[in-house]
Amino acid sequence: MILNIRTVINIRYASIRELDISNGEGIGIALFVQGCHFHCHNCFNPDTWNFNGGKEWTQEVEDKFIELANKPYIKRISILGGEPLAAENLNDVAHLVCRINKTYNAQQYMGDANDDNHNILIKNPDKNRILYPQKTIWLYTGYTWGELFMYDDEINKFPNYLRKDNMEFYTKRQQIIKQCNVVVDGIYIDSQRDITLKWRGSGNQRVIDVQESIRKGEVVLWTN
Ligand code: SF4
Repeated sequence: MILNIRTVINIRYASIRELDISNGEGIGIALFVQGCHFHCHNCFNPDTWNFNGGKEWTQEVEDKFIELANKPYIKRISILGGEPLAAENLNDVAHLVCRINKTYNAQQYMGDANDDNHNILIKNPDKNRILYPQKTIWLYTGYTWGELFMYDDEINKFPNYLRKDNMEFYTKRQQIIKQCNVVVDGIYIDSQRDITLKWRGSGNQRVIDVQESIRKGEVVLWTN
């Protein structure tokens, strides 16, 4: 399985927030990955666009990031950017979400927690959902849920550069999403900016309960 094989670390990161109260529910930690193709008008963080910018993500940095969450009051790990689901970042983000679940949430899986694959959600998302994660995983992406899961009506709206994307990337994106608890989807649209919105910047973006959405086969918003 692709998710657990990593020979080279490609990803770079912009910053790590050790105490984050704005990018998800409750108190968490946040990783801002480096690199984004979307280039939204008035992006809150354009310094993260360049895939060669930021800092090197090494095994040591990843170990420290995982350890930062090892406190009882840290209930959430947010991954944002930049674009965590950019093709350039997929392998390392996949590795990271697997590692978070394996480290903190493995015993919370229903089903075979000893499965060496760790991608338990992927094999049977209905049966094997993370019901009570110790650390919820929040992921922010410029892709919409429909784009990520390739619904026909959304594909027709894809800009050209997305249509050209390798299908393998979509499989990887889906594998990553299925291991998260919450996805905030969609690019930032400046004309829909709304500072009263919780956990998102513009009205088009949705805070999606991943596991419930997969179970029901439709977008379910996060309401906890
Ligand atoms: S997707 Fe996010 S990081 Fe990328 S340009 Fe838009 S707001 Fe900025």
